Amino acid sequence: MKNYKIVLLSGDGIGPEISEVSIRILQKLAIRFDFKFTINKELFGGIAIDNCGVPAPEKTIQACKESDAVLLACVGDNKYDSLDRSIRPETGLLKLRSELNLFANIRPVKIRKSLISSSSLKEEIVKDVDLIVVRELTGGIYFGEPRGIIKANDEEKGFNTMSYKSSEVKRITEVAIDIAKGRSKKICSVDKANVLEVSQLWRDNVKEIIMKHPEIQLSNMYVDNAAMQLIKDPKQFDVILTNNLFGDILSDLSAMLTGSIGMLPSASLTLKGPGVFEPVHGSAPDIAGQNIANPIAMALSTAMMLRIAFNEIKAADLIESAIDKVLSEGFRTADLRDNTSKLISCSEMGQRIIEEI
Ligand code: NAD
Repeated sequence: MKNYKIVLLSGDGIGPEISEVSIRILQKLAIRFDFKFTINKELFGGIAIDNCGVPAPEKTIQACKESDAVLLACVGDNKYDSLDRSIRPETGLLKLRSELNLFANIRPVKIRKSLISSSSLKEEIVKDVDLIVVRELTGGIYFGEPRGIIKANDEEKGFNTMSYKSSEVKRITEVAIDIAKGRSKKICSVDKANVLEVSQLWRDNVKEIIMKHPEIQLSNMYVDNAAMQLIKDPKQFDVILTNNLFGDILSDLSAMLTGSIGMLPSASLTLKGPGVFEPVHGSAPDIAGQNIANPIAMALSTAMMLRIAFNEIKAADLIESAIDKVLSEGFRTADLRDNTSKLISCSEMGQRIIEEI
């Protein structure tokens, strides 16, 4: 019998609540299918700072490296904002991405039929939206040097560096090409080449690689226009390829097309080694501990893990169809609620999904 080794990083805020749902989903699947899971819980984020003084302890990083896949909920809380940046929860995230070389972040944005009315946009605009944001994750301005805050001429000056090597652009472009080949074969590369040299390099390298794949249709868009087009006509997009910073912003924007950021899963992948599967949202400190968070993004991230890391397609499909069934019956967590829906808690949503599996 196959035994998948998963490291679970439930992190902070709503992390433990939504992780509990995913653990129970995996336990149910292990009963139904011919595989089992060994789930190893490790400290990460604020809870690791509280216990070990750092957000990404060596023990956690090592366990992740030795796993088959990492399931991560979310990290962060305002109470860590005054800490030195090097030991804040978000720095732990960057360390994990860098240590596992997770250069490709895949964020599918799919409107679930029964949630069309939960979107802040009109039904005819969001209906049938099904796009994927492919975000470069280990380069760009989040990692570029030099960076810092210095004193200059009696005032403070803050600076960061957005830089990309052509090898980094080519590597993420190959990932987008692979994904596009299994879909409509359209890639829209998003940059700011009219202003930034680093974006010109991005654009030139994307074009060079895609020219070797004549079946792929490439378009380029400036990031400000892309933000506007995602609201105006999101159906025009299939695969959006972009850098670390622009991908961060555009994927949160895309999240709202689906009705709530609590609906969006993601996968962060490397060429060889374990991937990290995590919701797009943060730790939602404003609703933590109240059992009202939406666990669906985490459950869909669990499905992505089964599909991509373990090739357990049937099990992944089962999670997705269970979620669709529960939503189609009108059950909603608070973030998705409208006048006609039945409001349920995070754990009840989990329970209903599990019953459908
Ligand atoms: P957030 O995503 O945590 O929350 C934004 C809003 O969405 C809040 O109103 C929150 O209640 C709501 N929300 C988020 N997830 C939800 C869910 N599953 N169900 C229902 N509502 C949900 O973003 P933020 O408020 O900007 O950041 C809060 C903390 O999370 C910060 O410390 C930030 O650094 C951190 N963060 C972590 C990650 C991550 O772990 N990958 C990502 C983004 C932000």
